[in-house]
Amino acid sequence: MLYSKSFINTSREDPKVAECKSHKLLLKANFLYMVSSGIYSYLPLGWRVLNKINKVIKKQMVLAGAQELLMSAIQPIDIWKKTGRDKDLEEVMFKFKDRKSRELCLGPTHEEEITEIVKRYATSYKQLPFILYQIQTKFRDEPRPRFGLMRSSEFIMKDAYSFSLTQQCLEDNYQKMYKTYEKIFDKFRLNYFISEADPGAMGGSASHEFMVPAEIGEDILYFCPGCNNYYKEKGRCASCQGETEAKKMVEVGHIFQLGTKYSMAQEAFVLDQQGKRKPLIMGCYGIGVSRVLSAVAETASDSRGLVWPKSIAPFDASLLVLESGWNQEALELESWLEKEGFSLLIDDRKEPAGVKFNDAYLIGHPYIMIIGKNYRGSAKIEVEKRETGQKFEIAKDKIVDFLKDEHNTESN
Ligand code: ATP
Ligand code: MG
Repeated sequence: MLYSKSFINTSREDPKVAECKSHKLLLKANFLYMVSSGIYSYLPLGWRVLNKINKVIKKQMVLAGAQELLMSAIQPIDIWKKTGRDKDLEEVMFKFKDRKSRELCLGPTHEEEITEIVKRYATSYKQLPFILYQIQTKFRDEPRPRFGLMRSSEFIMKDAYSFSLTQQCLEDNYQKMYKTYEKIFDKFRLNYFISEADPGAMGGSASHEFMVPAEIGEDILYFCPGCNNYYKEKGRCASCQGETEAKKMVEVGHIFQLGTKYSMAQEAFVLDQQGKRKPLIMGCYGIGVSRVLSAVAETASDSRGLVWPKSIAPFDASLLVLESGWNQEALELESWLEKEGFSLLIDDRKEPAGVKFNDAYLIGHPYIMIIGKNYRGSAKIEVEKRETGQKFEIAKDKIVDFLKDEHNTESN
């Protein structure tokens, strides 16, 4: 992609509306457009990151045997009345009536709807177990939308639902999702902790939250600096008996063993081996996809800008063309790299080198490559690793090997 032809419009000034580091950087680097408080559009760079986050999630969900579907965003209030959650979630629901006075809402979550779908088709234990998931926009009329995508009124969630005949099978699925979540959050290079949580309005027995420490977090966990352990309650550290300290955390994922709360209320039964009617035993598993984007931006950035992990960076590298006459070479390099699965944002603009460097640091691709003075004659590309600042001089024909080695080192 040539920068000169792209719709990337970074700004030099810090946006006045910014409420925290990630909000500031994502607006300034032009990943997001703020439509109104709590409502955002994803601009091309932000959309590329979001799609990469989804790709990581989908890969692991498929490996866990889950099947993707897409439920409706508009839901009838009738299904919520069956579980009584029309009242529990009344405050956050965006409710409205259609022209026929049908009471509807924009889905804040989908336990009721998935239960309606599954009960329509699952009649026998032979169809169990299975896990269904979707990646979809949710709507919640949050009392205080803030910090950009961290707490917005419209946000993207990955929500998965497991259906089993027995508690043991639910626990197996829960364990599988727990491990899947670890793999997913590892890929995002998030420094996360898993804490036992209160199932709250979701109901059910067990529940775990995936938490990332950040100053703007709205949850508190107690941290032992010696052992790196986190606790739900203030109490001395269970390992070393040392003092614990309160730390603010952002919840990026949440898994629940729901049990039969929804299947009993919505009459979702199947026949077991003996022909007896049994309620489906359910689990649900959420990841705040758009919140992950913000959480990575919040925790992986420096004074110069964003620092994306390779798995979700918009492009693999910024290629700065600092000498005129080399655009054609840059495009050839791009098409060669693309064949090997690497993408480039080629900064071909007629701007001073300082402007190009500032934007490259701000946008935060894992590598900044430079076609400058050394390219003439020796065909050497200067490469800087965004995260560490390490610099390399790589011959043009070795650049793919270099990127492949780097990727292999990371995935090992
Ligand atoms: P919170 O405690 O932060 O309000 P929640 O517990 O109500 O979140 P869940 O119903 O567990 O949220 O939703 C699953 C995931 O969706 C959360 O772990 C979080 O990452 C994300 N999420 C929830 N609310 C929002 C929001 N308003 N904006 C962005 N992401 C959100
Ligand atoms: Mg939660």
